[in-house]
Amino acid sequence: MAAAGLHLVLVPLVAQGHIIPMVDLARLLAGRGARVSVVTTPVNAARNRAVVDSARRAGLDVELAEVAFPGPGLGLPEGVENIDMVVEEKDHFMPFFQALWKMDEPLDEYVRSLPRRPDCLIADTCNPWTAGVCARHGIPRLVLHCPSAYYLLATHCLSTHGVYDRVADELETFEVPDFPVRAVGNRATFRGFFQWPGMDTYERDVVEAEATADGLLINTFRDLEGVFVDRYAAALGRKTWAIGPTCASGGLDADAMAGRGNRADVDVGLVLSWLDARPASSVLYISFGSLAQLSPKQVIELARGLEASERPFVWAIKEAKSNADVQAWLAEGFEERVADRGLLVRGWAPQVTILSHPAVGGFLSHCGWNATLEAITHGVPVLTWPYFADQFCSERLLVEVLDVGVRSGAKLPPMNLPEEAEGVQLTSADVEKAVAELMDVGPDGTARRARAKELAAKAKAAMEEGGSSYADLDDMLRHVVELSMKKSHEEGTGVSTLPSAPQLGSKNKESIGAGAALSVES
Ligand code: UDP
Repeated sequence: MAAAGLHLVLVPLVAQGHIIPMVDLARLLAGRGARVSVVTTPVNAARNRAVVDSARRAGLDVELAEVAFPGPGLGLPEGVENIDMVVEEKDHFMPFFQALWKMDEPLDEYVRSLPRRPDCLIADTCNPWTAGVCARHGIPRLVLHCPSAYYLLATHCLSTHGVYDRVADELETFEVPDFPVRAVGNRATFRGFFQWPGMDTYERDVVEAEATADGLLINTFRDLEGVFVDRYAAALGRKTWAIGPTCASGGLDADAMAGRGNRADVDVGLVLSWLDARPASSVLYISFGSLAQLSPKQVIELARGLEASERPFVWAIKEAKSNADVQAWLAEGFEERVADRGLLVRGWAPQVTILSHPAVGGFLSHCGWNATLEAITHGVPVLTWPYFADQFCSERLLVEVLDVGVRSGAKLPPMNLPEEAEGVQLTSADVEKAVAELMDVGPDGTARRARAKELAAKAKAAMEEGGSSYADLDDMLRHVVELSMKKSHEEGTGVSTLPSAPQLGSKNKESIGAGAALSVES
């Protein structure tokens, strides 16, 4: 047990694409013997309780620690605690981030309530406000990156070479300088997470908290992105571990897997029996993740394209839950017309349960990094339809580097389209053509599927004992033990306000309070 005796506190960003991998990481760390507390708000804790409870039933020492979200103090309605609740509410967006930055107070209170100082805090890169809490209490701090190393390195190179500042507008084309592969795009498709008007101070905080962290974790693996990981680590000068894909961490029972990140808005048994009745690799799965919302017109074009494709599909159509125009159009007969081969999930789909089913042979995806890793882990080729943020980089990686993706033809974030486009980038004919290319059973499609399967085997191998991500996580834990010991020695100098573990080092089995003495075994 590499981590026996450690108490680790994990602080995810309150967004689905960040909490899900952080909870996976929590289970991985608890699997190595650590006691792990995931600190999040009540709404987000509730969404992730099924997974954590399943891990606890399996004997892992992992818990959800709830802290209040300071939103109501900034005018947000009670219960608005996840970014997926404010994407469409422009008035709520800035107060949401202000509230997020205020989470340092409840986090500080939580840390002070502990019987002893945690050995390490792992914060999402978008939670730089954790840095002050860690500094105050002498807690070593690591940063978890949830996007790809490709994206991290690309945006870093663009910033340090001044490209973002030099271009005339959002659409001026450039090539990423000093990058391991040729990568071409524009500011709209290489935008950093916090590169929005009014968010400069947030971005500065993120950059500074990363530069002062005790190490970086990236949810990727070396066979996938080794060159980008190494170049990023060198550029930042921080110890960096590639510990993913966390979605391949395994160990969840079927119910918990189906409720990963949220309770599914569909009977999972029904989805499985529907898929069981379809031939291998015949079904297209469609999802745009937790944040991206297609315009009603674009939803209709997509629906018509799927209908014309004449292929079986499962569509996680969250717009059908929230958008009245989409609901009205669907009620006009689409579902009946495709009843023999289309399954609509109106809201949250059990994504990994679907992607891991042998009937699924293609994924029309917005290319969120988790969706990308989930496709890779299950050997499913991707029809790429990026929407914003890092998603255009995932597309480049899938199509240009890994050769397991087909471009749908969506070239810009919808907010960069002219208003008269009404959010439409792809017509039904475009969709039909792209789906046919992805699901092709000729030589090209067959070769692409074979490459995807090879990559899936590498993803799984990376996470198994002897694999690169397994070794990186062990190495990270060794580093945490060293850091924690160092902090304990500093304690006499008044650095920390909390008691540390009683004795750090080899295999002392005594325990105090919540934390046992540490042992490091490789
Ligand atoms: N997800 C899911 N069901 C859905 C939509 C999303 O389980 O209906 C999960 C998906 O498997 C992934 C995460 O939510 O783990 C979304 O993260 P990603 O990085 O793919 O996209 P984002 O939502 O951040 O844009």
